[in-house]
Amino acid sequence: MVRISIPTLPPLPPLPPSALTLLPAREAASHLGEFLDKGKGKTVILTGAGVSVESGIRAYRGEDGTYSNPNYKPIMYQELIQDSPTGRMFRKRYWARSFLGYPPVRDAQPNPTHIYIAALQVLGLAPRLITQNVDNLHPKALNLVTSHLPSSSLSNSQILELHGTLAKVHCLEHSHTQPRDDFQAQLGHLNPLWQAKAEESERTGDRPRTNPDGDVELPGADFRDFTVPGCKICEAQGKGKDQGIVKPNVVFFGETLPTHVKDTSIQMLESASQLLVIGTSLATYSAFRLVKQAHEQSLPILMISQGPSRAERGIKGFGEQKMDRQAGPVLRAYLNELLKTNSGPEVEAVKRVLDQGVVKRPPEVEGPRAEG
Ligand SMILES: [Zn+2]
Repeated sequence: MVRISIPTLPPLPPLPPSALTLLPAREAASHLGEFLDKGKGKTVILTGAGVSVESGIRAYRGEDGTYSNPNYKPIMYQELIQDSPTGRMFRKRYWARSFLGYPPVRDAQPNPTHIYIAALQVLGLAPRLITQNVDNLHPKALNLVTSHLPSSSLSNSQILELHGTLAKVHCLEHSHTQPRDDFQAQLGHLNPLWQAKAEESERTGDRPRTNPDGDVELPGADFRDFTVPGCKICEAQGKGKDQGIVKPNVVFFGETLPTHVKDTSIQMLESASQLLVIGTSLATYSAFRLVKQAHEQSLPILMISQGPSRAERGIKGFGEQKMDRQAGPVLRAYLNELLKTNSGPEVEAVKRVLDQGVVKRPPEVEGPRAEG
């Protein structure tokens, strides 16, 4: 059973840089190219929060492995689902904060790294991707590239969102699923004061700081008056008071991965020739486990990620497979060379979107804040 726990990395002295980390930029790009060639289109990509930082979505931890926001305490699954007055308070708090925190995630655009990764997928170099991110940015990037493809040549790229997606919600009773945007509208309708606050943020651009799971910090707010509806599909079916508790389609800290998601991730690796890990500290066990599985399958692994990760400490000799640097420039340098010497509808589609990534850095990390 894989349970998501709050990631922690112990503060340890840094390891010496690997030979891959010390490669000059051009050689780093060539190394990536040789790696992808060897994969023969069966390389699987695994990504994490580091990929989304440039889209304004805050990573849990900085380059040294510590929390970017030392006071951040995510809501735990057990608290969120409790059918009790305490549970109801947790849900009011969660949905009130999430009501304001969701629009920036909803509106976030893929950054250059998302586009380059989508390019690897569409070009058939690494069609399948597993992401720990719930921000929907990999699917948005992939859609952007494939929107420039004639439908006859659409690739069969595939994305597994290991920890779910913020774009949908479902009820715990019957798993009725609805778009988050619909539920968001429902919340706004039931909570006009909060709706006004959201509209003001929208107008002024003064948005509360958002954590990667769409939660938001709103010091001093009173959540007790926030109305959280039950599942409207349950309601329509006349379930009255027994209608399900609505939860975002994301795996919370303290929650177990859905079995079908876990099984799919294992199968994706079983049929992979290699693993390319990008932008993650692998602090959550569900992601680290996949790297361990790949290692035990003796799959070649290449990791391009800035900052320490659980893999260097947890898997013997892993450091040799890691480039400790930002992945975006390495991917871009590699793609520049590749696109010069290739042709076809996929190459043309990639060329059209290569510069369309949007960089929007998150606000600077502020000092400590009180947080409930
Ligand atoms: Zn329902």
